[in-house]
Amino acid sequence: MSVLSARDLRVWYGTSRGPVRAVDGISLEINAGETLGLVGESGCGKSTLGRSILGLLPRGAVIDGELLYDGQNLTELSQRDFRRLRGPEIGLIFQEPMTRLNPLMRISDHFKETLEAHESSLTDEEIRRRSLDALGGMGIPPTRFRQYPHEFSGGMRQRIMIALTLVLRPKLLIADEPTTALDVLVEAQILQILGDLKKNADTALLLITHNLGIVAESCERVAVMYAGQIVEEGAARTVFSQPAHPYTSELLRSIISLKTTELHYIPGAPPDLADPPNACRFHPRCPYAMQVCTAKDPIEVRAETGQRVLCWLHGPEEEIPPGGKAPLEREAIAVAEEA
Ligand code: SF4
Repeated sequence: MSVLSARDLRVWYGTSRGPVRAVDGISLEINAGETLGLVGESGCGKSTLGRSILGLLPRGAVIDGELLYDGQNLTELSQRDFRRLRGPEIGLIFQEPMTRLNPLMRISDHFKETLEAHESSLTDEEIRRRSLDALGGMGIPPTRFRQYPHEFSGGMRQRIMIALTLVLRPKLLIADEPTTALDVLVEAQILQILGDLKKNADTALLLITHNLGIVAESCERVAVMYAGQIVEEGAARTVFSQPAHPYTSELLRSIISLKTTELHYIPGAPPDLADPPNACRFHPRCPYAMQVCTAKDPIEVRAETGQRVLCWLHGPEEEIPPGGKAPLEREAIAVAEEA
């Protein structure tokens, strides 16, 4: 059952250089109890998509299209409506827990404040029980309940933040780079916890990260974002073993492992979203770029392996003009860009 469904979602920011199209025509679904990984380099629009779901876009951002949660189109909600949803319905795990925990407040007071804000009918005893249950689920013993944030390690603080989010029992959880500030051992713990969510609750999780290794370990499905668009989406196992989009292949080649003998990187950088390249936005960096890639926007198709993909390599053939499949020389790409 779909918890969240986006249809042709667009978000742009007005700037002196024209609109910056951070999210440009995205469609995707997240189902109950499912973990969807959203990956891509920095500046590809991942966090903007996460913020649109939470109603946390900066002032002046324009949102259009459909973003359905529980029958409501989130693009039409007021901030007052979002305040009702954020927490008990849609939870957020932040990147850096210390910026969200008040150093002057005990952990018990953080829980009390959170629960009282959303469930005012709870008694003190119920608050205490719910808080200790949530903390226990994160491996934090009751003896630490009345301690202050500075008395915990970075990993424990992140687990407390996750407990503070889960104590409200949200149906949808957005985790935006939840392990970026943590070392690899703590990262593994947090991933284990996020993975267990699926077993213990029907919570759907959108995991936003630039780290493909994390997605491979914890997600059933993955959506790859580039320059405001989803260029590939499908079962994580298939996307990792048989990537359909050249950008996904290049990202996977860039992962460093114990077997890595030579570092690989994708030449160039993600485009300026105020002035993206014509047609396929990845064409200036794509090793397989063809004539058609600079002339016509790619059309979303199903790859033979089942993923949704936005790339002319997969057709549709009838839409490719004569000569469109001729390789594009790098010099020609530079000329096309200048034009
Ligand atoms: Fe590369 Fe063309 Fe596919 Fe874009 S559409 S990813 S340039 S092959």
